[in-house]
Amino acid sequence: MHTKIDLAFDKEHIWHPYTSMINPLPVYPVQKAEGVYIHLETGERLIDGMSSWWSTIHGYNHPVLNQAVNDQLSKMSHIMFGGLTHQPAVELAKKLKSILPESLNRFFYSDSGSVAVEVSMKMAMQYFQAQGKKEKTKFITVRSGYHGDTFHAMSVCDPVTGMHQIFNGALPVHYFAEAPSISHNEPWDDNAMDSIRQLIETHHHELCAFILEPIVQGAGAMRFHHPEYLRQIRELCDRYDLLLIFDEIATGFGRTGKLFAWEHAQAVPDIMCIGKAITGGYMSFAATIASEKVAMTISEGEPSVFMHGPTFMGNPLACAVACASIDLLLSSEWENKVKAIERQLTAELQPLSELASVKDVRILGAIGVIELSEAADMAKIQKRLVEMGVWLRPFGRLFYTMPPFIIKEGELRQITQTMKTICQELEKDYIAP
Ligand SMILES: *Cc1c(COP(=O)(O)O)cnc(C)c1O
Repeated sequence: MHTKIDLAFDKEHIWHPYTSMINPLPVYPVQKAEGVYIHLETGERLIDGMSSWWSTIHGYNHPVLNQAVNDQLSKMSHIMFGGLTHQPAVELAKKLKSILPESLNRFFYSDSGSVAVEVSMKMAMQYFQAQGKKEKTKFITVRSGYHGDTFHAMSVCDPVTGMHQIFNGALPVHYFAEAPSISHNEPWDDNAMDSIRQLIETHHHELCAFILEPIVQGAGAMRFHHPEYLRQIRELCDRYDLLLIFDEIATGFGRTGKLFAWEHAQAVPDIMCIGKAITGGYMSFAATIASEKVAMTISEGEPSVFMHGPTFMGNPLACAVACASIDLLLSSEWENKVKAIERQLTAELQPLSELASVKDVRILGAIGVIELSEAADMAKIQKRLVEMGVWLRPFGRLFYTMPPFIIKEGELRQITQTMKTICQELEKDYIAP
């Protein structure tokens, strides 16, 4: 099929995420996107079930967000943040301060989630360096996590799915406790903390921080865990002098039914990373927020400054659209909307757990996950999905949706019906000899 976008050139010259240059999976040419719809050059219209990886919570091409970008564009699209500041940067920090835990009030802007995680890890190390506790340089986390693709972020991703063996030797080695096994809606059992407690008790002298994704393990597992983990990890961190870092890059801005996932547990971290939905999916942007205590300790120590400063730090376009996106979220009925999505996902996906091709169905907030019994052929499923007018991107055994919050009931039903059809088609494969 002839398209304006030169797909042959794309295939030969352009890397897409996690792809081969020899046999890349097909990519679909997008002409435009509007609301919950992605329009392909080939004429198909797809309902977006992915929110472009958790980010486009208000849908695409939103008039209010477009306006915010245009207004800022006419003033300046970028200005260096070293020695200069601007209104959108200050306004954004004020807005974030009003929706985050009170103790988290020192803001560091960066350009992507992975960098926000790197920054959080550097903060934790500098915090102990500043106190002369030079041996506290290691991190502890839980298995099945995902924190990004740069080196230190990768070093705390799940060691198996995070491909540690490829970069073996170059990656710092950290401590991995068992993945949280008790889900958010199961009864709590104190034994669940054994692996975590044991590692902290044994290694706290060399540990500077515990880093994890609160409540939802995203790309690494698509699993939800019990809030009690977070409360008990908070206590252990206090007892053994570790900082606690919550990576809320996927969970932030309403996705789990709370504005931020820490609220499920009321356990407050020392450092928090946010990204993805922060600009409503408009720009690459992220932030690392530290407590006053962390910020002051770093600043009182040697070298007395925090050693990081990306070129595009505090980009005004990104800050302006982030402000508009937060206003839009807070002035919408986001809580009811996410609850309605949760109810509908539960009603329409949960029954699929009866199928032999389905191992588990999990729903929390505006996240619906079908864990398949076997890894599926991603390219084949993707093609079927596009034929049925839905954009989802399954990987391995995980087939999931996290739609924009503006999605309507009928549109979401089309997503869940399509997921059902795919599972039933897999079921045939499954039962066939
Ligand atoms: C996506 C993600 C990251 C990495 O963010 P990028 O913007 O892709 O660098 C880090 N942590 C979590 C929990 C994520 O979901």
